[in-house]
Amino acid sequence: MKIGVLGSGQLGQMMCLEAIPLGYDFFCYSPENDSPSAKVGANSTVAPYESISDIKEFLSSTNVLSFEFENIPKSTLEYLQSESKTHLIFPPPESLLIAQDRLLEKNHFRKLGFKTAEFFHLTKDTSKIEISISYPWIIKTLRFGYDGKGQVKVQNADDYRSFLENAFRNGNEEYLIEEVIPFQKEISIILTRFQNGEIVCYGSVENEHKNHILDLSIYPARIPIGLNLDAIEMASKLADSLNYVGTMGVEFFVKDNQLYLNEFAPRPHNTGHYTQDCQSISQFQLHILAITGNLPPTDVRPKPTLMKNILGNDFNESLSIARSLLKDDRYKLHLYGKKEAKIGRKMGHLNFKGTLEEVSPLFHDL
Ligand code: ATP
Ligand code: MG
Repeated sequence: MKIGVLGSGQLGQMMCLEAIPLGYDFFCYSPENDSPSAKVGANSTVAPYESISDIKEFLSSTNVLSFEFENIPKSTLEYLQSESKTHLIFPPPESLLIAQDRLLEKNHFRKLGFKTAEFFHLTKDTSKIEISISYPWIIKTLRFGYDGKGQVKVQNADDYRSFLENAFRNGNEEYLIEEVIPFQKEISIILTRFQNGEIVCYGSVENEHKNHILDLSIYPARIPIGLNLDAIEMASKLADSLNYVGTMGVEFFVKDNQLYLNEFAPRPHNTGHYTQDCQSISQFQLHILAITGNLPPTDVRPKPTLMKNILGNDFNESLSIARSLLKDDRYKLHLYGKKEAKIGRKMGHLNFKGTLEEVSPLFHDL
């Protein structure tokens, strides 16, 4: 069976590393040459996401199509949506259309009855309207944001006025203004929904960000059991509402024992990388099993695990710390083979099979 994946970054790489031992052929498609996925042996098509004819050819040469990247052009996703009646395409392209547009996403959450930050859709036309959300705000570009890119914090009316001065240079920019939630914790749920509608879920993982980029994940999250169950229920309801198949990541803020849904990713998620070394089954293997029509595993019993991202900042130093920790077999290094180390670029991660109490202080220096 041939699996085709749009995108060829580290998520595709880690999918490929699970697909091949399971006996599936792996094909990736992206505009990038010499990608992380190609590096581990994925057959790669190098072509633009906008090219419907190339996408069509790729689709017909594979048995099932999936994604490792959600920012595929809307027109391509709409084409794939029309093809999903005759081709196996998982997750449904509609879940990507929703996830890549923060307004559609937030409205979908509200429709399901979930609490979210208050928000306002800012366009040139709505920029004259008085906004009732109290400061501070985070203003996010409506589409194509990741790792906090395209986000601006606005403390007061003066900040907002200066933001507006440059906000509509092209005239058609769109933003989502969100109230800042003064959360106590961030958590996420990684789940996999199978073709029979069953869901496999690891339970909540706790996440810490630095400069808006994920830094550390702690599994299991240190939250009350009831909150964990609520998060699982909300994420499952979201997956059901999308008729989702595959692995997804759902991000929450925890404030005063309440859950605010932030966003979801229609693909394996950075906060699920700990599952590679949680002594159970990884989010990538679950994704491959789900999209290829297998039944869900019945026994998923992950052990406490930590994940630390390794960024391009001071990469050589981080690498030598990470390698020095490998003398202890509870550490597992995963590098993506990216060509160039840039500030803020995710180059790899280090997992630790154990707890914060057991981990070396050097782990935090990465
Ligand atoms: P990523 O792709 O890394 O998940 P993103 O660019 O899509 O990020 P968000 O996840 O919405 O954007 O925001 C990144 C981080 O910024 C959040 O994890 C959180 O730490 C902070 N943040 C975003 N929105 C809010 C909010 N409304 N209130 C408080 N903090 C927020
Ligand atoms: Mg996020």
